[in-house]
Amino acid sequence: MTEQTDSESRKLLGRLRDAMARDAEGQERLDQITKLIAGSMGTEVCSIYLFRDEETLELCATQGLNVEAVHQTRMRLGEGLVGRVARTGKVINTPEAPSMRGFRYMRETGEEIYSSFLGVPIQRLGEKLGVLVVQSKSKREYSPDEIYALEVVAMVLAEMAELGAFQGEGEALSARHQKSVLFRGASAQEGAAEGHVWLHEPRVVVTNPIAEDPHSDFLRLTEAVEKLRFDVDQMLEASADGDKEQFKVLEAYRMLANSKGWLRRMQEDISRGLSAEAAVEKEQSQARARMEQVQDLYLRERLSDLDDLSNRLLRILTGQGVKSEAEYPQRPILVARNIGPAELLEYGRNLAGVVLEQGSVGSHATIVARALAIPLVIHAERITTEALNGDQIMVDGEQGIVHLRPDEAVAAAFRDKIAMYEKAQERYVFLRDKPAKSSCGKVISLNMNAGLMADLPSLANSGAEGVGLFRTELQFLVRNQMPKRTELAEIYARVLDAAMGKRVVFRTLDIGSDKVLTYMKTNDGPNPALGWRAIRIGLDKPGVMRMQLQALFRAAKGRPLTVMFPFVAQFDEYRAARKEVDKALAREKILGHVLPEKLEIGAMLETPSLAYAPQKFFEEVDFLSIGGNDLKQFFFAADRENESVRRRYDTLNVSFLTFLENIVKRCAITSTPLSFCGEDAGRPVEAVCLAAIGFRVLSMRAASIGPVKSLVRCVNLDNLYEVINEARDRGEQSTRVRVMEFLRTQN
Ligand code: PEP
Ligand code: MG
Repeated sequence: MTEQTDSESRKLLGRLRDAMARDAEGQERLDQITKLIAGSMGTEVCSIYLFRDEETLELCATQGLNVEAVHQTRMRLGEGLVGRVARTGKVINTPEAPSMRGFRYMRETGEEIYSSFLGVPIQRLGEKLGVLVVQSKSKREYSPDEIYALEVVAMVLAEMAELGAFQGEGEALSARHQKSVLFRGASAQEGAAEGHVWLHEPRVVVTNPIAEDPHSDFLRLTEAVEKLRFDVDQMLEASADGDKEQFKVLEAYRMLANSKGWLRRMQEDISRGLSAEAAVEKEQSQARARMEQVQDLYLRERLSDLDDLSNRLLRILTGQGVKSEAEYPQRPILVARNIGPAELLEYGRNLAGVVLEQGSVGSHATIVARALAIPLVIHAERITTEALNGDQIMVDGEQGIVHLRPDEAVAAAFRDKIAMYEKAQERYVFLRDKPAKSSCGKVISLNMNAGLMADLPSLANSGAEGVGLFRTELQFLVRNQMPKRTELAEIYARVLDAAMGKRVVFRTLDIGSDKVLTYMKTNDGPNPALGWRAIRIGLDKPGVMRMQLQALFRAAKGRPLTVMFPFVAQFDEYRAARKEVDKALAREKILGHVLPEKLEIGAMLETPSLAYAPQKFFEEVDFLSIGGNDLKQFFFAADRENESVRRRYDTLNVSFLTFLENIVKRCAITSTPLSFCGEDAGRPVEAVCLAAIGFRVLSMRAASIGPVKSLVRCVNLDNLYEVINEARDRGEQSTRVRVMEFLRTQN
């Protein structure tokens, strides 16, 4: 880069800043800018195209093309050279535009006389806003310096657009962050909520994209980078005694923070006229653009680290984004790209809802959101770039839909929905102390699933008979290091205290697959749902399981205790686990601790293999609980986290119901207590079908108890069983249609 170009681009940016400072309307500003750029770069044409909607670009200002074409000429994304720059996000630089593949001649602009073309994307942090183009009659290829200068200008334009500098003219820009937007994501936790956006990582607004005094911006950047490096060093020091893996990750993070190339590029940008903040953001935008393209996981991680470092650096530079609870809006709805379980727990029940761009139905954050009963929508693409703190937002957890800044009609319809939902909940309160007794006289025991202390108040409020599944992994997932035995014993004791004598089924640690403990090395390489998880880890590396069993015994303090092992696939695994229990009990006795008054040791039936275990297994096991979420995914070979297959097979599919019924029958022969604790137990229609084929104990989210009880109480289960049989006899694939027809005839 030559000094001359540096000062040229600084001059241009300086003029841009002056143009911005003038009191002018949006369109006037755009016109001035195209004129300035064309003048500075010595080109006949400079045009700004902006997105009108996601698919359409509009010519919003021009110097050199027909002025009448402004706001008239439009093109689809990918159409012509401009459309191609917008679609790919890549620069096009050609001396002979008309002979290029894809060139589209637009008569109204009069552009056929221009031969050379340089188009650069206008984008901000990976968000595409438009295209900036210069054209000349002469056949010339633009130099790297010229391209660089135009990219810097495009970036400043993007910042200006973000600040609303072009508002007032041409709808394309005026509506940024003001329009109502609908996001279609996926449902991860049901429920509906209205509130205000609370960004997990508030966007840092760069109000000064152009440096007033490059020297002082240079210094500011240097100081900020030093502070950042100091912070990262401290993080590294704090984790020195902890897990080695985490330390390695942080070391890679530090290497990036110390990268000379990163700092040099930002310094170069400042010397060309960008402010320190804009220089950081330019690097960040490029990292994001590359992130979209690279497949290599390691590289993606590093780019994501760079993104994170840039955010930290921007916060240091601007002092923005320091969160304080005092600023919480009313009914905050958390909006984030992604979030970890510990962070989500920290927000806790303050939140009315959560919307994520990434996430998955089985992720830890989802588990926490479920435990907290907060509506959660995942895969709401690009919401963090669109939403601003405090924006009105409505989350429909059932449909996986989010309305950002909804218009009045949408908001009114949504409020009706919430009101209906709340009314239904009120109705369930009346049922709380009534039994879930079907109209044919069968009583179903309804229990709740839990995983946090915060769940326990629901035990009384929901009318649950007990806790049919206490997922113990949450206490492990939300920490940065292995919890201590005494800590766990305290938590389990508090759970039992809160249950006040009601039965709590503690499931031992179910990790592996999607639930990864960062501080515990499992195995290298991918570990899918069919991998090394749950009891497999427990038996192969029994240290943690022993510690957990001891914690449970000590928490019981002589009270009855129920423990269940997850993911038992064969009899031997249950036997081996039981041996561990016996050994742990013997040790406790030697140490003089009181033993539980009564101990039940059950197994979760989550793999089809266990349904065919020898009869002896059914005799030996104290109870069985069907983990329908896992069992269903293995039965149909359809990953429960894969959006394209997870809803593909119906729980009321004849094969699956028949399979489940066979388990009921086997348990009946040996009088083995049986329950069902997957998500389906909490879906009223599925729940009554499970009851109809013989399940007498169901465990579900506390919020589902009311709706399930309400339906059970008005259904004749004998008749429903007949309906299921008829569908089976007719050779139907799913019993659902008949079941629904029948249920409509009940009260
Ligand atoms: C299940 O698999 O149905 C279950 C209850 O366990 P989890 O969802 O925790 O795997
Ligand atoms: Mg499971």
